[in-house]
Amino acid sequence: MRLITLGTGTVALTPARVCAGHAVLAGDVMLLMDCGSGITHRLAQHVPRWREITHVAFTHFHADHIGDFATLVFGWKYGSMPGRSLPLTVIGPAGIADLLGRLAVAFGDWLRDPGFPITIVEIAPGAAMDLGDGVMLAATKVPHTPESIAYSVTRGGRRVVYTGDTGYDPMLAEWARGADVLLCECSLPDEMGIPEHLTPAQCGAVAAAALPKHLVLTHFYPPVERTDVRAEVAAHYAGPVTLAEDGATFEIEEERC
Ligand SMILES: [Zn+2]
Ligand SMILES: [Zn+2]
Repeated sequence: MRLITLGTGTVALTPARVCAGHAVLAGDVMLLMDCGSGITHRLAQHVPRWREITHVAFTHFHADHIGDFATLVFGWKYGSMPGRSLPLTVIGPAGIADLLGRLAVAFGDWLRDPGFPITIVEIAPGAAMDLGDGVMLAATKVPHTPESIAYSVTRGGRRVVYTGDTGYDPMLAEWARGADVLLCECSLPDEMGIPEHLTPAQCGAVAAAALPKHLVLTHFYPPVERTDVRAEVAAHYAGPVTLAEDGATFEIEEERC
């Protein structure tokens, strides 16, 4: 499996970090998790086969996680000749079908019928679905917005967990236990902590309970970048920590059978 952190920023717009979005390439599955503003260009930059993405999975409906989806579909339809014909599966929490319907009212019917089949799947917290080629996607509830979920992607005995946006929740840490990569939001400095987002110390606490092989932090608002994130995390968790950048690639070697 390969994880590419395409967008490691937030709605606090900065040139180096676009809004949220991450690709997992696993066997025949090309999964994009979240598609915030800027992700389309990062895909073109870092995922040469971006036209062949098989699944788009949304964690929640904030604009910094969905803003580029219409552009992505429009690009697949009109951005090259001939347009895309490969089917696409769109996954999200309850409400994703309604959201895409409302986007189609705003943008046009092409969004739901762009010339290639779009299947919409609403995934319930606690559920898992088979994406094909041995890839399983599972979801769990997280405290951020009413619909917010986190995802795990599993293949070949390896597991990547993406928190999406979340506040602190010991249940999330329990669910993520033993992940090979825990891609964890790290929004705000400790003195600005709120129930809907994580601070570096809370990321450290989550990691101390989840014990991932590699903690990868993302979703940085500018104030948190002015703090010593590594030191705050290290006070709780001694394992390997990476502060993700847009376009960073993480290889997760699958077990041989
Ligand atoms: Zn966000
Ligand atoms: Zn959010």
